[in-house]
Amino acid sequence: MSAVAMDFLQKYAPVVADQFVSMNATQTQNTLYGDVNLEALNWLERTWASYYIWMGNPVLATGVMSFLLHEIVYFGRAIPWLIIDAIPYFHQWKIQPDKHISKEQIWKCTKVVLLTHFTCELPLIYAFHPICCYFGMATYEVPFSSIGLMAAQIAFFFVFEDMFHYWAHRGLHYGPFYKNIHKLHHEFSAPIGLAAEYAHPLEVLILAQGTISGPFLYCLFRKDLHILTVYIWITLRLWQAVDAHSGYDFPWSLRHFIPFWAGADHHDYHHMAFTNCFSTSFRWWDFSLGTDAKYHAYKKRLAAAKANQRAKIEAEEHERATQEGLEAERLVLMGGPNNIEKIKIGTGKKQ
Ligand SMILES: [Zn+2]
Ligand SMILES: [Zn+2]
Repeated sequence: MSAVAMDFLQKYAPVVADQFVSMNATQTQNTLYGDVNLEALNWLERTWASYYIWMGNPVLATGVMSFLLHEIVYFGRAIPWLIIDAIPYFHQWKIQPDKHISKEQIWKCTKVVLLTHFTCELPLIYAFHPICCYFGMATYEVPFSSIGLMAAQIAFFFVFEDMFHYWAHRGLHYGPFYKNIHKLHHEFSAPIGLAAEYAHPLEVLILAQGTISGPFLYCLFRKDLHILTVYIWITLRLWQAVDAHSGYDFPWSLRHFIPFWAGADHHDYHHMAFTNCFSTSFRWWDFSLGTDAKYHAYKKRLAAAKANQRAKIEAEEHERATQEGLEAERLVLMGGPNNIEKIKIGTGKKQ
């Protein structure tokens, strides 16, 4: 960092300036790992420690790692879905085969996602290390937690995030919030993996709370959470979000093996019909509160269709759901959420 910038920060923001002060390798090792026998640790733990020693600044080290993890996992999962979509063989499992996404839409989506990542998430990710320290989460420390503890913590984060997302997402469908925030995400009535984070920056910030506040909440009660566990959780959560927007439901998709897993089939319907299916990972909130009634009615009609008429019935159902969705969206934009419930299933008309 240039001397002028450092002088400025030291004068006006000494706490921030401290975060840019780097140590040499020996100083870092003594400060961070003075009482740890690194030789006794496994390869991954030694590599983790070496990275923090090499960076010489834990705040920067955590910030860079968190940002890169997010970019690599998000695009690493979303791009293969674009490739799959370009291969006709896979179209037999496309949920809405009649809808096509143009190159212009893909570029627009990429630009919005990157803009949000760099302007909105990058500064916040840089604050991640100090916040983790504040809540007592281990960051540079080694060794890591046991596999069993990690699995239990991640299971809790999944359940918490799903609950948070369900209610926050329903809130975002309330008229003014929908109109000013959530509408952008619904531009895709047939979503693609890349569109998982195609959303207004405020929506990204609100819904990200479900992902990151679970770990911080956990830290209020127990002091045994390591940031590596949080990284694994974020990776799984990103995979879940991208896959839910993929637009594909394969016979080997997770929801066929875990009945309460939502999957693309569930969230795709939310984009197609605008209403129903508000949760992310699991189906229990929508099921318990009846916000999946239309989805089940649609699935039932599809299942009842004779094999030779299936494609025709499917196209009709998609058209009907899309029309109902457009009408429901129009009503929300006009006057609040209650109108959604007044749409008669199957007619697209208000009761
Ligand atoms: Zn929505
Ligand atoms: Zn979505």
